[in-house]
Amino acid sequence: MRNTLFLLVFISTFSQAQNIYPQDYFRSPLDIELILSGTFAELRSNHFHSGLDLKTKQREGLNIYATASGYISRIRVSHYGYGKAIYITHPNGYVTVHGHLQRFSDRVEAYVKQRQYEKESYEIELFPDLNDLVVTKGDIIAYSGNTGGSGGPHLHFEIRDNQERPINPLLFGLKIKDSKKPTVSSIYAYPINDLSHVNGSNLKQKLRLIPLKNGDYKTEDLTAHGKIGFAINSIDRQDLAANKNGVYKIETLYNGMKNFTIDFRKFSFGETKHLNRLIDYKHYKDKKERLQKLFRDTNNPLSMYDNVVDDGYLIIYDTLSNIYKVKITDFDGNETTININIKGVDKQPNDVAARFISPYYITSDEVNTLENQKIKVDFPKQTFYDDFFIDYKVNGDTLTLHKNNLAVKKSFTITYDVSNYAPEDLKQVYIARLIGYKNYPSYSSTIREENKLITRTKNLGKFCLARDIVAPVITPVSFKDGQWLSKYRFLKIKIEDKESGISNYRASINDEWILMEYDYKKKTLTYDFNDKVVTDTKNNLKVIVTDNVGNSTTFEASFFRK
Ligand SMILES: [Zn+2]
Repeated sequence: MRNTLFLLVFISTFSQAQNIYPQDYFRSPLDIELILSGTFAELRSNHFHSGLDLKTKQREGLNIYATASGYISRIRVSHYGYGKAIYITHPNGYVTVHGHLQRFSDRVEAYVKQRQYEKESYEIELFPDLNDLVVTKGDIIAYSGNTGGSGGPHLHFEIRDNQERPINPLLFGLKIKDSKKPTVSSIYAYPINDLSHVNGSNLKQKLRLIPLKNGDYKTEDLTAHGKIGFAINSIDRQDLAANKNGVYKIETLYNGMKNFTIDFRKFSFGETKHLNRLIDYKHYKDKKERLQKLFRDTNNPLSMYDNVVDDGYLIIYDTLSNIYKVKITDFDGNETTININIKGVDKQPNDVAARFISPYYITSDEVNTLENQKIKVDFPKQTFYDDFFIDYKVNGDTLTLHKNNLAVKKSFTITYDVSNYAPEDLKQVYIARLIGYKNYPSYSSTIREENKLITRTKNLGKFCLARDIVAPVITPVSFKDGQWLSKYRFLKIKIEDKESGISNYRASINDEWILMEYDYKKKTLTYDFNDKVVTDTKNNLKVIVTDNVGNSTTFEASFFRK
């Protein structure tokens, strides 16, 4: 009897230790069934997704509720990223984040607009005081939208701890219907050393996945030798939508013993870029498929690993038969396994992976500089994960800096000496990255310093100097010069810049600054007449748009209103 009681106490403390987060403290930020278009920590470009993407019925304007009481501690409005976002600090130390909002609740909207008008800027970041914007659980704080870098209407919802680390919101008891097992679309085996091989080859091998009736998989039996590793592409679908979301946990077993676990409960923003070390980055850039490595190679600082034996690698010895098992789990515990039989065969591989060699070797622990008369490239220490021979060529203004398929940890600097240009020509010159097969010039943020043009970038590839002589184009949307606009709630203008892109804009009515919200996806500026800047009958609208090299266009129109 005493033993049973002891056991019960032990089990209940144990399960609490598994989940240390308060349950049901946070309600849902929406009042519709929660359906995910993105899971926590799923793999995105250069980062792990830091929250949940909640579907909003393909619409904007749904109520967003405070998930618990607290105060609005931060508001950010930006053209890109989270667009319009609200951060609420709760008494238990957690912070909830709500992104891509269409607009704020009236009280918050008034607070923000007042400061936007004071600063004469749509983009703004505010840190309200403790008593400025107090919220009670269930208050409407905003309406859902599609602002910032959002690819369709949804709510981005995050929960962060008191050290700003995003935590998987599902750990707090939010429920998503999920009875479907994760699926696997590909698996690769990697010989790690020159002498190791898989199926006789020293090259990375795509394995044929054989789906089983129960949703699990096996592969054809392998032969291998030496140090090898695996990588998979897996996704999870939930019950109420077809979205391909990220999985929660991947575990591997080598001959029955755990040798690698990665799970997505939390991470820090400091480590999120190292996603590029988790995935096979070259494969991703070349094939647009994200393979997660089931081993931890050198210089991988990610914190999500557990039970890692031999860094997740397998050492395959001669003549022994081995069983390798990959278990992929979603948050609800639906589990998919892949079984792989590996037979040890000792022989020379048929081929050896070709290694690129050049006169320029990058040692990642050191500062590296590449320089000719005109162009200088400065890589700070730790720009890269590995040491390697870089493909570096200069031909006139064109710089070839390897292929853009190597993960770059830190920004590096490219400096062009432009003293041979006439000053009046130079005004419109910028550093361009050449992208795609057609070498399309794309503006790389360019700093001007005396006879130098400088860009800081995390992209390898081709660069050159380009000149943008075309000023932005400004077009009114559904109104004409001299028109009566009494019934209009909004004033819309389309702004576009073909080459270097829009750097800034300024709009005024009768010389008074007006707030125009910029939507870069729709290329529109929108003024809300409810801001009540207009009090006269006859009005003069003036919009100035400047591109990234300083070409600017001024648009003027008069309109009437009563
Ligand atoms: Zn998101």
